[in-house]
Amino acid sequence: WLPTTPQPRRSFSELMASRSFYEKTHDLIMNNFDTQYVVGRIDIEKFKIVNDVFGAEEGDLLLKYLATKIKHYVQDFGTYGRLDADIFAVCFPWSLNNVERFVNYMQTQVKEYPLEFDVIPCFGFYIVDVVTLPVDIMCDRANLALRTIKGNYVKSYAIYDDRLRRSLIEEQSIVSQMNSALESGQFEFYLQPKCSIDTGNIVGAEALVRWRHPMKGLISPGKFIPVFEKNGFILKLDVYIWESVCKLLRQWIDEGRQPMPISVNVSRINLYNPKLCDILIGLVEKYQLEPYLLELELTESAYTENEKLLVSIIERLRGYGFRILMDDFGSGYSSLNMLKDVAIDVLKIDLNFLRNSAQSERGQKILQATIRMAQSLDLPVIAEGVETREHVDFLLRSGCMFAQGYCYSKPVPIEEYERKVSESQIKSSKAKKQEQL
Ligand code: C2E
Ligand code: CA
Ligand code: CA
Repeated sequence: WLPTTPQPRRSFSELMASRSFYEKTHDLIMNNFDTQYVVGRIDIEKFKIVNDVFGAEEGDLLLKYLATKIKHYVQDFGTYGRLDADIFAVCFPWSLNNVERFVNYMQTQVKEYPLEFDVIPCFGFYIVDVVTLPVDIMCDRANLALRTIKGNYVKSYAIYDDRLRRSLIEEQSIVSQMNSALESGQFEFYLQPKCSIDTGNIVGAEALVRWRHPMKGLISPGKFIPVFEKNGFILKLDVYIWESVCKLLRQWIDEGRQPMPISVNVSRINLYNPKLCDILIGLVEKYQLEPYLLELELTESAYTENEKLLVSIIERLRGYGFRILMDDFGSGYSSLNMLKDVAIDVLKIDLNFLRNSAQSERGQKILQATIRMAQSLDLPVIAEGVETREHVDFLLRSGCMFAQGYCYSKPVPIEEYERKVSESQIKSSKAKKQEQL
């Protein structure tokens, strides 16, 4: 099972290697009913880079080294094998201690390997609770656990458990229902008012998607957006919400009201949609809306992912007349760089940035400096997640003009938002009259 030169496709000997691991492991488990086993899968992160940068021969040496170390560790009490070019598998008696000792051992061995590259192994484990399960399925489960920590440099291993199983089942159920849910109008949006801190008046709203599920009731986006960002369905859902918002704006205009802008969220996945700008422009043209009415919230993390792409899309959209809000500002690592490179219209301060800052004097100073900096760039700032009177007072002192949060209103259905807007307008016209007296 020691690796030879890595090949793009699985060779016959590799297939045999994995089959022999499955057979050996099956026999081990079946012949030792009194022992509970754990099946582990070991992947090398970015192994392809090792091959590309140092050459296939060097990659091959690394794999041989790892294979020898795994064999040395496991051979006396378990089985080991190679499932694919850079994927290894093991099986040994289960205990958390055993798993952690193995992980530590492998990490130490990898660190000692002389290569000018950070080789990072990651591990997924399945505790064998159903001995009759085919070993390849056990390996799949170990892999499902492993996938939850890929790219996560803090956690190096994960164990397949009931919670993971439940969340995978939940994910499957979301995926199997999403298309029919969209077609049957189960997705809708709530509106959360944005207010002027000074007067408390409503100045606009953000549209936040909700899934009105016939059995489960109202589902929050936190449950399904991550799944839709993984499988691409967010492209469709976002457009659906944008169009629904455009329809509402059109309806308000037709009813003789003067609508305030509504912002919509644009998933970072949508930035990779080459038709993004055309779709947005097409929508405001179809509903004959001034583009400033449909504000676009782009998340700061999109900048970290692909700065050039973000800049070019924003340029085009702003050129057409859309206003761009930078969402979740202060949540990433490159907030200040982003401000330097990207021309936007509004800065939206992240909920946690506000929450964490409010707690310490140092944090308060950083947030205040951020607001001042935005002011010097003529950028209006809106804070999100404003929950308490203390938040409001602090923001007011710091020169932040706008706020959105439970302190003003939760996201509400459209009719309720309309009512709140009328109330706010009556209040503000009364205040104006009093000023004139
Ligand atoms: P976001 O864009 O940062 O939206 C703000 C979230 O904070 C909303 O959660 C809102 O309900 C919540 N929030 C507002 N005020 C407060 C407050 O005072 N305290 C606390 N604790 N929370 C507050 P929601 O509606 O669950 O949405 C979560 C996220 O889902 C959004 O975060 C956004 O990233 C995403 N999302 C929502 N609708 C859409 C959509 O149509 N398309 C896309 N791509 N993403 C969406
Ligand atoms: Ca948002
Ligand atoms: Ca946000």
